[in-house]
Amino acid sequence: MKEQLARIRSEALAAFEQAQSAAELDSLRVQYLGKKGELTAVLKMMGKLSAEERPAMGQLANEVRSALEAAIEAAAGKLEAQALEQRLKDEALDVTIPGRKVKLGHKHPMYLALDELKDIFIGMGFTVLDGPEVELAEYNFDKLNAEEGHPSRDWSDTFYFDAGSRVMLRSQTSPMQVRAMETMELPIRIIAPGRVYRKDEVDATHSPMFHQVEGMVIDKNVTMADLKGTLNTVVEQLYGKGTKTRFRPHHFPFTEPSCEMDVQCHKCGGVGCPTCKGEGWIEMLGAGMIHPKVLKMAGIDPEVYSGWAFGIGLERTAMRRFKIADLRLIFENDVRFLEQF
Ligand SMILES: [Zn+2]
Repeated sequence: MKEQLARIRSEALAAFEQAQSAAELDSLRVQYLGKKGELTAVLKMMGKLSAEERPAMGQLANEVRSALEAAIEAAAGKLEAQALEQRLKDEALDVTIPGRKVKLGHKHPMYLALDELKDIFIGMGFTVLDGPEVELAEYNFDKLNAEEGHPSRDWSDTFYFDAGSRVMLRSQTSPMQVRAMETMELPIRIIAPGRVYRKDEVDATHSPMFHQVEGMVIDKNVTMADLKGTLNTVVEQLYGKGTKTRFRPHHFPFTEPSCEMDVQCHKCGGVGCPTCKGEGWIEMLGAGMIHPKVLKMAGIDPEVYSGWAFGIGLERTAMRRFKIADLRLIFENDVRFLEQF
């Protein structure tokens, strides 16, 4: 029996030592110390011993049991420590690895140009308005003094929704002049940016959809000098101090007098180059004093109030601002192009 206990002791201790997991250790515990375990079987035979042998053998058996229990506890502790170490290794955070870059988008060059314009006008006390793209001919033409038969109302130029030519995609942002006159308190200072639509073929300078920014001021004693002064200030803020402008007579149905404003070519400084087609000047916008008939139709007395308005093409402004050669680049959304701004 003594040999049996010694064998169990050495075998069990070696087995516990080599256990690879808590589950394996537990099954070993059952194998030696369980109800049907090897050590338990030896203890059961204790009754067959003589009264002289029993105490010594009993003490030895208890020593073996204690040794086994202690070895199990030690092995369990070791396994637990190993598991913890493994987990720390697995979950370790290496702060020296470079971070992953989050790719942020950015603003489209046309909206960068619009933001600049908005900032300039808001700084001068203007309000920014938004208006409908599906518009009534009443606002797009009638109340802007473009009567039936005016060439701009032609079907070949305008996207109409109905046979009666009353509902359409607006061909200009100018209807926002009338909508502002009808809804706002005087005096009025507004700009109204937005999409407009015309039946144009796509090429380097044309698109059936493009953007305009409408501007309008109505107050007492407003003159052409205010128009020129304001637009000169805008141009200097956009293109730098000292940028020259010139105003040429033009015709629009809703302004009288009407003009077009040119900006001195930023490339050649007015000498003449391919960008300005040798002219030294680049057309920038149309403007004028609001026609008294337009004021009257909106319920404003032209004897008391006067005003000026302008319409500027946003794509052209962005093209000049960022030196973009082809209008189509603005709409194609080629990321390689857009990433440059
Ligand atoms: Zn030039």
